[in-house]
Amino acid sequence: MSHDATAAAGTTDSWQQQDRAHHLHPFTDYKALNAKGSRIITRAEGCYIWDSEGHKLLDGMAGLWCVNIGYGRKELAEAAYAQMQELPYYNNFFQCSTPPAVELSALLAELTPPHLNHVFFTGSGSESNDTVLRMVRYYWKLKGKPYKKIIIARDNAYHGSTVAGASLSGMKAMHAQGDLPIPGIVHIEQPYHFGVAPEMDPAEFGLRAARALERKIDELGECNVAAFIAEPIQGAGGVIIPPDSYWPEIKRICAERDILFVADEVITGFGRLGTWFGSQYYGIEPDLMSIAKGLSSGYQPIGGVMVSDKVAEVVIDQGGEFFHGYTYSGHPVAAAVAAANLRILRDERIIERAGAEVGPYLQKRWAELADHPLVGETRGVGMLAALELVRAKSPRQDFAPAGKVGTLCRDICVDNGLVMRAVRDTMIISPPLVLTLEQVDELIEKAARCLDLTAARLHEVI
Ligand SMILES: *Cc1c(COP(=O)(O)O)cnc(C)c1O
Repeated sequence: MSHDATAAAGTTDSWQQQDRAHHLHPFTDYKALNAKGSRIITRAEGCYIWDSEGHKLLDGMAGLWCVNIGYGRKELAEAAYAQMQELPYYNNFFQCSTPPAVELSALLAELTPPHLNHVFFTGSGSESNDTVLRMVRYYWKLKGKPYKKIIIARDNAYHGSTVAGASLSGMKAMHAQGDLPIPGIVHIEQPYHFGVAPEMDPAEFGLRAARALERKIDELGECNVAAFIAEPIQGAGGVIIPPDSYWPEIKRICAERDILFVADEVITGFGRLGTWFGSQYYGIEPDLMSIAKGLSSGYQPIGGVMVSDKVAEVVIDQGGEFFHGYTYSGHPVAAAVAAANLRILRDERIIERAGAEVGPYLQKRWAELADHPLVGETRGVGMLAALELVRAKSPRQDFAPAGKVGTLCRDICVDNGLVMRAVRDTMIISPPLVLTLEQVDELIEKAARCLDLTAARLHEVI
């Protein structure tokens, strides 16, 4: 680092300059960012974040879908501080364990659905899904069926950005940049009614999308299929909520077929849908469940895979060494912080309140946005919602090319004190679960005003 850079540290200009010079951001168009300069976020409290210029924003995305308990909880900072002083690091390899890792695993067994009683810790959601891929293939090998290797995922799914995570994801742009997916991963239709088949009856479409799994299993041969992985609601794909007919049909198919079902609950876990887990909201019983994000409310990087008794018994009793693990699997500081987060979620009944009070109110007010001339559909569950921006409502006309109006709307939101994310021309929110009813009103009023401003500025982008 140069002496000048050090001397200049601490102002927006110097941060932006150093950022441009040295920092390669995730999921970012570098040239575009460098032309504009990054927004430097410097602090946060409750449901608000502040940038280095002093602007206050209502964080409608809870960071990246993760700050479920809101910002600024001292208990989590204290848990980290105490653990760092006592034991900042030790691993869980070589027949060792640490109290925070042990206590968090017991707490997770208690809070997750009853048949999930074991956890493999990771550092992130992507690592969790890498672990899923390793573990399902290992499971079938131990069961004497080593040819059961293929994992079926869905178009437009998001399962992370590591090689396995990006391969399981169904995002064409990611695949195109990395020669992905890796072999043994295939994708089926997503249950995205508005985007894929708006002309169809939703219930019929839900059945069709679910039966794509059955058809794919038949096509590949059931003896070659290891697992089906899916998010209960697709998050990064655009808050895609399947029609009511979808999950019961998937459940039927999984029950009839000898494959594992993996729920990626990295977003839907820990209260996002107003229930502890999305699996409970939809009444599905995964054999494996990926978790991260809300596990620590983002205060520390930590993830895991919850493993059902059925799979754990095989791995424990019939396996020798499972040759898989991360240096930071069950990191004591991250585990202590996650446990403090889960106790707050449980003891303050934050999820119950999100399910019974804040979520329903948010959904009621969000649905009012459907009257706006730019909005072709609103949808949501619990503390998750989306709306589709359209050029005209009936007959429906989408914006072309897609994505420009969404980006405009997102930038207008940020300039007007609201973090709302754009996926193509779908605007999405996933606020902290601790949002108050007054903050719901603030979010809706800001969103409505930003839709008006977007409508007035369409000519700038199309
Ligand atoms: C964010 C996300 C991941 C990846 O998690 P990282 O911690 O970013 O690696 C995986 N699955 C889903 C559903 C996600 O939303």
